[in-house]
Amino acid sequence: EIKTRAVHKDPNHAAFVRAQGAIPGGVSSPVRAYGSVGGDPRFLASARGPYVTDVAGREYVDLVCSWGPALLGHAHPEVVAAVQEAAARGLSFGAPTLGEVDLAEEVRRRVPAAEHVRLVSTGTEATMTAVRLARGVTGRPLIVKFAGCYHGHVDALLAEAGSGVATLAMPGSAGVTEATAAETLVLPYNDLAAVEAAFTQHGSRIAAVITEASPANMGVVPPHEGFNEGLRRITSRHGALLVLDEVLTGFRVGPSGWWGLEDAADRESGGAGYTPDLFTFGKVIGGGMPVAALGGPASLMDHLAPLGPVYQAGTLSGNPVAVAAGLTTLRLADDAVYAHVNRVAATLSEAAGEALSAAGVEHVVQRAGSLFSVFFGPLAAVSGVRDYRQAQAQESFRYTAFFHAMLDAGVALPPSVFEAWFVSAAHDDDAVNRILEALPAAAWAAAAA
Ligand code: PMP
Repeated sequence: EIKTRAVHKDPNHAAFVRAQGAIPGGVSSPVRAYGSVGGDPRFLASARGPYVTDVAGREYVDLVCSWGPALLGHAHPEVVAAVQEAAARGLSFGAPTLGEVDLAEEVRRRVPAAEHVRLVSTGTEATMTAVRLARGVTGRPLIVKFAGCYHGHVDALLAEAGSGVATLAMPGSAGVTEATAAETLVLPYNDLAAVEAAFTQHGSRIAAVITEASPANMGVVPPHEGFNEGLRRITSRHGALLVLDEVLTGFRVGPSGWWGLEDAADRESGGAGYTPDLFTFGKVIGGGMPVAALGGPASLMDHLAPLGPVYQAGTLSGNPVAVAAGLTTLRLADDAVYAHVNRVAATLSEAAGEALSAAGVEHVVQRAGSLFSVFFGPLAAVSGVRDYRQAQAQESFRYTAFFHAMLDAGVALPPSVFEAWFVSAAHDDDAVNRILEALPAAAWAAAAA
């Protein structure tokens, strides 16, 4: 009784009730609604460094980081200053600016194969355009994607998608026509034999394979060694494009994204590396503002309008304020930033694993650079998780208990077991220690679930 009254006095609860009267589900994007973990989502009032503060004035160490963009932490003073200066010069012109050129050149400096870069506002637009460009260039209809990979809410890419589609256990989405769904082939991740088989059957009709560079929308499920190169080999052989979706990993797991890590590792061991045809970027590239991008060789990218027949456009594309945030973020994201987030991720992923083991919770922690997540249950503990089927088979109810124990202790984890944990350069010893202190009780809560 007392508890019920306390809940109803919580400003987060009041906000959620009000929001549900005005917005479907009370949220502007599904996973924010705490649908799978239950309870009232925290309505945030402000954020600074590694912390977010809700409308009740309660502070949490943030392991969501806006789902990726906040690589430098929240409200980095130099990024905020750049945004303020840009805003004072005008919010949007609908004409080209030098900032866009600076940002495109910065992307190319980090990822040389992104020779020409088209700026858009969301990751969804980037992958949607990649699909259209691939079809436009090849003249072929089919797209191959992998179960558990999320590429935004593009009709062609929603089948067996990760992220919120996984959280809500939806096979796809209503409103996608059968004809569209039939043009998407969904294959199990990390299974090159399945890719070979699909190409043997449909090779001449496949426009592109799209894959997350290292999937992090079904939990973190890194590619097996040679998987991405294998995709490159097979697509090349059949004249299809390879689209590497680095919306989440790009400029977060390293200065040149996941591709940069794999390329460097391959070259170190005497290999020649591999190059996808198209890259998609988002999240960190906008530093918390709406910027995303599509990049590739000029010979492909110049099929886009105004040079080519593949149409793509946007009133707010390359918005000067957003570009200022992204450019400043990338310029500040130096080797020290990447070393820091890697170190914090190593500390936290090990500590989470130790706490869960000490509490007797079967689990596996999987990590890709500074991205990591925990899978619960015996299957996960024995062999690791290599694909969506295994990710779905975990004991996700244990995460619900774990999540709420962490939240009660002042640590905001992603409100879904299918999402990665994100850290930032602002996660200092104080913030990390607060997380470390919260882990043991949360592990015991998971054990008792
Ligand atoms: N691709 C990947 C790999 C993503 O993680 C996301 C978003 N989580 C998207 C595409 C879509 O980006 P947006 O939400 O900006 O549309």
